[in-house]
Amino acid sequence: MKITFLGSGGGRFTTISQKRMTGGFRLDNFGGKNYHIDPGPGALVRSYQFGVNPTKIDGIYISHSHTDHYGDAEILIEAMTRGMTKNNGIIMGSRSVFEKYKRWGPAISNYHRSNSKNLILVPNKIKRFPDFSIKGTDTIHGDPTGVGFQMEANNLKVSYTSDTRYFEELKKYHKGADILIGSVLRHDDDAIKGHMCTDDFINLVGDVKPKLAIMTHFGFKMIAANPVEQAIKVSKNTGVRTLAAFDGMLVDVNEKYPQKSRMLRLKDRFAAHMKQEDVYSTNFKVKSNKRNKMRNKKKYYNNNDSNNSFSSK
Ligand SMILES: [Zn+2]
Ligand SMILES: [Zn+2]
Repeated sequence: MKITFLGSGGGRFTTISQKRMTGGFRLDNFGGKNYHIDPGPGALVRSYQFGVNPTKIDGIYISHSHTDHYGDAEILIEAMTRGMTKNNGIIMGSRSVFEKYKRWGPAISNYHRSNSKNLILVPNKIKRFPDFSIKGTDTIHGDPTGVGFQMEANNLKVSYTSDTRYFEELKKYHKGADILIGSVLRHDDDAIKGHMCTDDFINLVGDVKPKLAIMTHFGFKMIAANPVEQAIKVSKNTGVRTLAAFDGMLVDVNEKYPQKSRMLRLKDRFAAHMKQEDVYSTNFKVKSNKRNKMRNKKKYYNNNDSNNSFSSK
């Protein structure tokens, strides 16, 4: 099984600015099937950028009706259904994804619902399929129908909190997770309404004790605080190996010992397609110019010094 992060950003401002990418993540070869989770803006393009095929999806999961979670959902549904010409796959998510609920949703049109199975997930509801089972996990967030999950396939349990504030019962929903993926928008104890900060995640990871924890969905302040250091803080406080997601991160899961999973950086195919000069030339120029300026300055002062010393003689 592989987990691919097509974005590690979250929240409105990270999304608008693309300070971190917002394409969600993929679970590939999970019980033999591929799932795209929370395909936010850029999910389609990021798939190509990091070399995962958007037409090879068996399921799409949308946790709630905020754009950073559903922005590219419809186009990915089209990829999954060969441009809506085939019946294929399953769309899973909160009630608001499929039906308008108060101010939220629907996130996808009736047309896009029509060629795939639909599963409206609610907390504690368990749905079993031949390849996998999924349980809804509760959230306390803007969209009242928002839902995280715990999925199980091949005796491996992967839990995803989605956007939620920390609350006491959260650990009950994610209990038993082998891999816990948390939406941790803020650093340290810098809490904000409806979201977890690092210290909340420490509490959750400490209680759930997964074999591997992964933090993602970083907001501006978290990015400035350095998510890698925040993940180290979680590891130190809980004894659980914790990774901070980055754009294009691949976790090659060791299904027997998830804590021993390999973390890799996927090749950025867009950068590779650009000529080396396009990517680096400006930087080099700036640097060499600076160096030349320094050299010239040195020359000038040296000359002046020698002039002075000469004249003083
Ligand atoms: Zn979000
Ligand atoms: Zn949200």
